[in-house]
Amino acid sequence: MPDGPRPQRSFHLHKFHGGLHLEDHKQESTARPLQTASLPGQLVLRLKQHIGEPNDPLVAVGDRVLRGQKIADTPERVAAPIHAPTSGIVIAIEDRPVAHPSGKSDRCIVIEPDGQDEAIEFRPVDVGSADRNTLLKHIREAGIVGLGGAVFPTSAKAETAAAHPIETLIVNGAECEPWITCDDILMRDRPEAVISGIRHLQRILEPGETLIGIEDNKPEAIAAMQRALDDAALDNTRLIPVPTIYPSGGEKQLIKILTGHEVRSRHLAFEIGLLCQNVGTCAAIGDALDRGEPLTHRIVTVTGTGLREPGNWWAPIGTPFAHLVDLAGGFVVERPEPIMGGPMMGFEVRLDAATVKASNCLLILNRDHRPEERECVRCGRCTDVCPAQLLPQQLYWYSRARQFDKAEEYHLFDCIECGCCAAVCPSHLPLVQLYRYAKSEIREQRRKAWKSDRARQRHEFREARIARQKAEEEERRRKKREALAKKKAAEGGKKPAKTDAADAVQAALERVKARKAAQQNTPKNTDNLTPAQQKQIDEAEARRRQKSTEGDS
Ligand code: SF4
Ligand code: SF4
Repeated sequence: MPDGPRPQRSFHLHKFHGGLHLEDHKQESTARPLQTASLPGQLVLRLKQHIGEPNDPLVAVGDRVLRGQKIADTPERVAAPIHAPTSGIVIAIEDRPVAHPSGKSDRCIVIEPDGQDEAIEFRPVDVGSADRNTLLKHIREAGIVGLGGAVFPTSAKAETAAAHPIETLIVNGAECEPWITCDDILMRDRPEAVISGIRHLQRILEPGETLIGIEDNKPEAIAAMQRALDDAALDNTRLIPVPTIYPSGGEKQLIKILTGHEVRSRHLAFEIGLLCQNVGTCAAIGDALDRGEPLTHRIVTVTGTGLREPGNWWAPIGTPFAHLVDLAGGFVVERPEPIMGGPMMGFEVRLDAATVKASNCLLILNRDHRPEERECVRCGRCTDVCPAQLLPQQLYWYSRARQFDKAEEYHLFDCIECGCCAAVCPSHLPLVQLYRYAKSEIREQRRKAWKSDRARQRHEFREARIARQKAEEEERRRKKREALAKKKAAEGGKKPAKTDAADAVQAALERVKARKAAQQNTPKNTDNLTPAQQKQIDEAEARRRQKSTEGDS
């Protein structure tokens, strides 16, 4: 077979409902090659960078850490540990502003890099001899989460999926947000790492086929990936260019495009034999197993109309956004609006917050270009473009009125926060922000209800335990009483000890009585007893002896 990409068999693609053709802004950041970010003065690593339980710090203030050293973890299964991106000193473990739609602060480990970039010893995994569980354990230990934005711990997702027969593994290289290019650059620069990760996932999941979906506005990435795929010669694996329509990179939308299957509301893809992983996640799996390196860096697109020199940087996780702005030449607008993610799904962040594993892009727009909000004119355009086939207008009213139960009835949690509705809204309503707010309020209410349920259950359990202990104690006492009674009953035939003792007492009393009687009638001296007195004493003594003899016999 001649060199070059294999000819592709035709592949039937499907359409999803709604969606938009958006103005492309990929060129701004792909004009320059991938750059390596310099180290900032401080790296701020949030303890919780995944969906699931937060991590606990494994280091203390003053500790020196090395690149790749695990610095935070939790015993929970649905979690991903955090690793130091370079060597340095832990100078604080405290609340810092974090990349979150609410702008809140959260617990972070702050490392001051020492510039030596000294690393722990990385041990590649012998993938050929490792079983599925060993591979999953290494993926968890490497702190890998879904890098397409979902940040669900990859080991937990793959482990759950592996318990089901997976017919199709879908690799998501669509990257449909108009300004973001980090996956594009990754596929151009490191296609072998992506393909290697796919190979490891195939070993874990044993899918019938693997489909790599890449939007057709990334010809360089498609060519590079196809070459790497041809070199690797993976079985039943195909690269499929998909039409550039937003949001084709949404998991459910890409599944629909490539397979025609709909993942129903409140269901997961693996339930119908499908599993979707982002190309960045695949590369991280490749690095973790082939080189033993945990997830400490990622490519971040730093772009937007507000920056002098947009581009892509290979940056340590925990880099403050302000440092990325400096790397991109600083602001060119008076009132910059920093957004983590793209204009469709992103949210505003503070510049003193730092990147997390989910930080695919820092977009700087001009705040002065933000259009003014007006009242909803009930035009219905939002409904036409919603890829989740929801009624965004109703969701808007109910979320705004805090009628969360109604919003749930209208399937609020099926909203993928793609922003299509907001993009076409002539009133420029902040629809996605409202949906996010409603979702977080509902989650908070549920969390509180769950906590109070747990407290009530704990109280009931304690009461039940005390009652049980009381009953057990009473039962113990009853058994003891019964045993004593039985013992007495068994000893009932003998009774001698008690009888003898009573008789001896009786005899002693009689002796005393006789002696007193004798003394009353003179007798200070027994030599002077009358015969009657002497007889009385002798008779009493004889009776005593007789009784004593009977008792002995
Ligand atoms: S697009 Fe905007 S104005 Fe039109 S119905 Fe939807 S929310 Fe209302
Ligand atoms: S943000 Fe939600 S409601 Fe709006 S179009 Fe996307 S899925 Fe539909």
